[in-house]
Amino acid sequence: MPSATIPSKLLTRESLPSLPSVALEVMRIAEDQSATLEDIAEAVSCDPGLTAKLLKLSNSSLFSMGSEVHTIQQASMILGMKSVMMLALSFSLVEAMNGDKEFDYIDFWKRSLTVSVAGRMLAIRSGNSDLADEAFLCGMLSHIGGSILARGMPEDYHELIIQSPGNWPSSEAEEKHYGFCQSDVLLALLESWSLPCRTVSAVGYMQRPAHLPKGLETETRELTAIMALAALSGRVLCDTNRATPYHTLLKWAGARYGLGHLDLDALLNELGSGVNEMAGLIQIELPPGRSSSALVQAAREQLLARSISSAVDLSEAKRSQDALRAEKEKLKLQASTDVLTNLPNRAALNQRLDEEIRRRLGRRMPEELGLLMLDVDNFKLFNDTWGHAAGDAVLTGLGDVLSEVLRPGDFAARYGGEEFTVIMPLANEKSMTATAERIRFAVEEARIPWDGQILRITISIGGAKMATVRSDLDGQRLLETADAKLYEAKEAGRNCFRA
Ligand code: GH3
Ligand code: MG
Ligand code: MG
Repeated sequence: MPSATIPSKLLTRESLPSLPSVALEVMRIAEDQSATLEDIAEAVSCDPGLTAKLLKLSNSSLFSMGSEVHTIQQASMILGMKSVMMLALSFSLVEAMNGDKEFDYIDFWKRSLTVSVAGRMLAIRSGNSDLADEAFLCGMLSHIGGSILARGMPEDYHELIIQSPGNWPSSEAEEKHYGFCQSDVLLALLESWSLPCRTVSAVGYMQRPAHLPKGLETETRELTAIMALAALSGRVLCDTNRATPYHTLLKWAGARYGLGHLDLDALLNELGSGVNEMAGLIQIELPPGRSSSALVQAAREQLLARSISSAVDLSEAKRSQDALRAEKEKLKLQASTDVLTNLPNRAALNQRLDEEIRRRLGRRMPEELGLLMLDVDNFKLFNDTWGHAAGDAVLTGLGDVLSEVLRPGDFAARYGGEEFTVIMPLANEKSMTATAERIRFAVEEARIPWDGQILRITISIGGAKMATVRSDLDGQRLLETADAKLYEAKEAGRNCFRA
């Protein structure tokens, strides 16, 4: 079992609690195959304090079998030898542990007793009554690792306790902090006590049952599973973050024993009185606190609040994802839009032309792909006469005219400078000429207001079209042909269309 990473100073005789001689004697007897109930009873009777506790325990509501017992012999008869041994060990622990006044033993015993009583109840509810007393002992042992850390590295461990306010430090937090956890320390201690292997495994792995070594006998696995549920029950009643252990407890108890939340709530509700009774028995005064049913209710509310807030988190995450997507769309649009005319720019034109070409590549289409190239006539002269700002206003006005007069399927873009392009995905001779003439005429007629004056321009248009697209380069070819036709239109005197 892992102990390599634990600093040796934690595992010295002085730093580890030692079992009282009566416990050692009880364990020795338990190992002895020929031992009888009388032998156990005799060993326990040597310690009057332990005897008194065992008698009280035998008569407690948790353990009582009906008739009152007065002697340890009777208790042994009623409880059985194994139980007496387990309980004698449990109570010896109280003596062994209470030596250090620096440590918060109230919290330590509250947690240990809660796990003990929960373990016993869960063993019975899950149909493993024969493991009930061993589960009780496991609970009593469950938090000793923490107390050793608190004793051995007081400042360090105190820091870890502060980091987990209201909660006993988790194995994960300890492993992160030290490279080992209190369960590792506990395993080393229990081995030095020569406790039965099953008890050692269940105690060492109840906080992390998934790490239980493979190949152990069924009862060891069963006891560990019961103690894992008991440890979670302890956290529900003793931690301030109750939602997480409560959620895991519901999941595991349902999966392993088919226990629903009503069964578990009933069990948790009963836990409180059992714990108080046990605390009285070992003379630990627990501060008055909320009833276990109020604590279970709090756990349920925390869980509900958490699932609501995670739903909120989700919708917030979705909202920010939507906002991000919208922002991306906006940037994409900005990157593809010409700021002066608000028309798609050259990059958007190339992309759209590529799409059209790919869509038509190798296919016979009912209509041809048409392309118009537009260029403002004598724009240099216009700029020189009216100034560059007037020229800009004309280009903006031209963009507006194009947006107004084009049919929905046609696509207009600013090619660059004072040149514009129109893609006509469904073109023929007639429609291309009609569109070009409609644009040309609308521009000629347009009155563009600027600085209290009216500006007018004309444009020349070249057109090209293609019935069947055969190559990726056909888009470029269309542009070149339309540009050549535009040149012809200029040559023919401007303000006209050539195709
Ligand atoms: P043509 O009829 O043969 O097309 O003559 P043109 O003067 O229009 O042709 P040219 O290519 O010689 O001149 C184009 C002018 O367009 C030159 C440039 O100053 C102007 N121009 C290009 N882009 C802009 C712009 O964004 N704003 C303004 N105001 N002028 C621009
Ligand atoms: Mg030009
Ligand atoms: Mg021009």
